[in-house]
Amino acid sequence: MEIVHYPHPILARELKPVRKIDQSLRDTVREMFDLMYQAEGVGLAANQVGLPIQLFVMNPTADPDQPEEEQVFMNPIITRRFGEMRVVNEGCLSFPGLRIDVSRPEGVEFRAINLKGEVVRNKWKGLRARIVQHESDHLFGTSFFQRADISGNVSANTALEAMRETYRQALKEGTAVTEEMVDKLLAQQA
Ligand code: ZN
Repeated sequence: MEIVHYPHPILARELKPVRKIDQSLRDTVREMFDLMYQAEGVGLAANQVGLPIQLFVMNPTADPDQPEEEQVFMNPIITRRFGEMRVVNEGCLSFPGLRIDVSRPEGVEFRAINLKGEVVRNKWKGLRARIVQHESDHLFGTSFFQRADISGNVSANTALEAMRETYRQALKEGTAVTEEMVDKLLAQQA
């Protein structure tokens, strides 16, 4: 398992709901946390490791020594956004080195399934709400830069174009994951 980078096509897809919680899924979650900590992230969505399922992990401390802060959410639905719009400089593990100011509501109410298969409901503000919005977006094919107006942001556009060029090269060399491969992966998950 490894973190995939923009513009890997799975990052632009709506993923499939999780239907079964088993040991293999729990192992996947553990591996995702490990990758997230290595990359010093606070959240990681399943498509960021090439998996077609609606699942994300988070730990707002980014600290593996605080496992009590770990959360796993499947099939999340944000039921309400509330509070002021806040601008936060966000990063994303699928966009190494890129930081963009993104405006989002400061609070969310959402429900999801946890790793025990229970329905959980949370109402959060601040960093946790920020992570839930960023990661839930991933599960429906939206990346953070699409939540911002970057038309005048030369450095962001340059960085994105460099990532697209890297992908085009990999396509030519036959080492990239293609749209068709992702179609197949999603069809298998249904
Ligand atoms: Zn992200």
